[in-house]
Amino acid sequence: MANKCIQFLMGAPETDDCVLWPFALSGYRYGQMYFQGKQARAHRVQFYLNNGFYPENVMHQCDNTKCVNPKHLKAGTRAQNACDMAVKGRVHGQKVALTDEQVAEIRASYRYRVVGCRQLGKKYGVSDETIRDIVTGKNRKAKAPDWSEANV
Ligand SMILES: [Zn+2]
Repeated sequence: MANKCIQFLMGAPETDDCVLWPFALSGYRYGQMYFQGKQARAHRVQFYLNNGFYPENVMHQCDNTKCVNPKHLKAGTRAQNACDMAVKGRVHGQKVALTDEQVAEIRASYRYRVVGCRQLGKKYGVSDETIRDIVTGKNRKAKAPDWSEANV
C-alpha cells in the first residue's frame, strides 16, 4: 500500500529551505505518521530513512519542529537538545564552564542590589541567567573534571 507520508519524505525537494510537513501533527508541533506499524514523528522517520538508524534525539537545526528537510536534521542526545536550546537563547552564545571554586566565589560575592547578576556575569563571562541560577541554587552542581583516573 502506498504511503503518502513516506512518499513525501522520500520525495522531499533538494533545498536549503525548510520542508514543512503537510499532514497530521502531534501536539501542533511535530509531523505525525505511521511507520512500521507505529505512530512516529515524521522528522525522526526522515532521519531514519536518510541515515539508517534512530538516534536518541533528532534535532532541528532550523528550530522548525514541522520541518522534515533531511539537511536540517541532526542526531543528538536529549541532554544536547536541552543544552542547544539554552545556548541559542543566550546572549553570548558561548558555553563557559565554571569551576567549583568560581561557583563558590559567585555565591559568596553576590549581594542583592549591590553586586548583581549582570556584573558577575560580565566578570565570569557567562550570562546573567547563569549567575541567577547559581545564586538561587537552581543550577549547579559544578561538574569538576575527575582526575582520579589520570593519577592511577
Ligand atoms: Zn528546516
